[in-house]
This record gives sequence, structure tokens and C-alpha cells, in this order.
Amino acid sequence: MKRSLAAAIIAMVSGSCAIAAPDTYPSQPITFLVPYAAGGPTDTVARLLAEAMGRRLGGRIIVENVAGAGGTLGSGRVAKAEPNGYTLLLNHIGMATSVTLYPGASYDPVAAFEPIGLIVDVPMTMVGRASLEPNSLAELVSFVRRGEGRATYAHAGPGTASHLCGTMFLAATRMTATAVPYRGTGPAMSDLVGGQVDFMCDQTTNTTTFIRSGHVKAYVTTRAARIPTLPEVPSAPEAGFATLELSIWHGLYAPKGTPPEIRQKLEAALAAALDDPALTARFGELGGIVVAQAERRPAALRAKLAAEIERWRGVLSPAQ
Ligand code: ASP
Repeated sequence: MKRSLAAAIIAMVSGSCAIAAPDTYPSQPITFLVPYAAGGPTDTVARLLAEAMGRRLGGRIIVENVAGAGGTLGSGRVAKAEPNGYTLLLNHIGMATSVTLYPGASYDPVAAFEPIGLIVDVPMTMVGRASLEPNSLAELVSFVRRGEGRATYAHAGPGTASHLCGTMFLAATRMTATAVPYRGTGPAMSDLVGGQVDFMCDQTTNTTTFIRSGHVKAYVTTRAARIPTLPEVPSAPEAGFATLELSIWHGLYAPKGTPPEIRQKLEAALAAALDDPALTARFGELGGIVVAQAERRPAALRAKLAAEIERWRGVLSPAQ
């Protein structure tokens, strides 16, 4: 009680209206900020998790999309948010790639956040507009090669999953194509379905529905083995692209300084939500694999982020 009062006074003095009161947390809606456009795969992960965690916390979780600059705009917003547990960041592999690609970003992904835990691993699929003539990855390579840079591919900005996958594909085949950047692959998918761009590599949390409905063609997954929910799509090694293996990990973060009692509530709610068979099944239908119990912990996300920052530092350069 004493602590709540002190926190309230500090918040009033600093002009903030959201009070970090661990005892009563959450007493107002929590925001999951997604640093990409609405309707995309990261947004889908956030909305499914928000619903499941909100039930465990006994409060409402709202998803807000703040897109731009490959996810660094929205991530920077959370880095500067009041550390009271009411503004959290849900981001993916882009948290690690941004260190190399955005050296001038307004925040340090390691120093500015308290990791809550890892969520789900999602593979990717190379997809093309339904009217694109290639029917296999080998044919897509010939098509892109013949285009001599004119074939277009969509991505969500430098450092995003779609950008990494597209870049890896073009580098492995020593080809060029015209990049068409979007604020997220939700809007990019609309243009792919509409035939405005030729191809894109994106998480199965976005592509599965469109592949199944025939709105896009799928050429390859970025997994070593076929994905059970997309059995007709060749794995990376089957398509002759073992180097295209890529799994997109997602994490939940709170701003640095969030009180430990609030973090513990969030950690427990995350772990419990990921135990929910309905949530696991929904992620599974979309090709995602919920992380093992030991990874739903801050230490696991901290270690993953550190390892991935080093991994991508060796592969990417700020000039890309
Ligand atoms: N799939 C996007 C990416 O390429 C982000 C998004 O829109 O969720 O990282």
C-alpha cells in the first residue's frame, strides 16, 4: 500500500497518469506495441497472445501498431515509455538485426528493455502472386534472372524478416530484383494478392491462409523439413536452398525500469498463456511452434537476443 502511494506521488510529480502499482496491476488496459503494420504476421502473434495473456492477468490488452524504419520506430517508442507495465513491445528477429542496420537508432535493444520471454518460432515461405508464371523455386530463379532486376519483391523494411529472407534468396542465387518496401507485410500481402508485386518471403503466420486459398503461390519454406500445415510446399533443402533456413523468433519486452513485481506477473501470464492448448493449436495451424517452457523466461530471451545480435552482425552491414 505504502509503495503504491509513493509510486502515485512520483507519477503525479512527473506528470504521468499511468501509475506503476504492482499490487493492483493491471488496473487499466495494457498496450502491446507491434512495430509493423496491422494485419501482418507479427500483429497476428500479438493479437493471439494479447487475448490469452489478458485472460490470465484479469485485464484487457490492446494491440497498437507503430510501423516504420524496419520496426525501430515502434521499438523506440516503447524504449521511452513509462516503465509501468502498461506499454510493452512485441517484436521479432528485427530486434537483433536493427543493431547492425540502424546504428543511429534512438535506443539500445539490450539496455533499454527488460526481457519478459520468448513466444513462438515461425518459419517463412517464399510466395508469388497467383498469376506469376513460375511454379517451382527453380522456375522462380529463372524468372528473376530473365528480368535482370525488374522482378519486384516486397519486404517490410531493412532488417525485417521478409527483408532478410529476400536478401538471402537473392544473395544465394547471385540475382538482383527490385525491392518494394512496406510498413509491414500485411499491406505487402494485399499488393501481392492484387498482383502489384511479384514475390515476397514472409512468415507462415501471414502466408498460410493465402496459400491455402490459392491467392498466392508457395515455392519453398525456410525449414529443413516440410511444415505439416503446408505439406505440398517443398522444404528449403528439397528446393535446393539449404541456406535459406530461417526461423523467426518473437519476444515480449517491457521498458527498462519496470518494477520486478509487475515483470513477474507478466512472466507468469506469458508462461501460462503458452500452456493453453487452444493458443498452441492456433499458432500450430499457422505454422508456428510455441517455445519450450524453459524459454518463456527473461533469461532465455536475453540470451537469444545477445546471440542473434552477434549472428547478424557478421552477416549484415549498415549500408544494406
Ligand atoms: N513480416 C514482417 C517482417 O518482414 C513484419 C510484419 O509485418 O509483421 O518482418
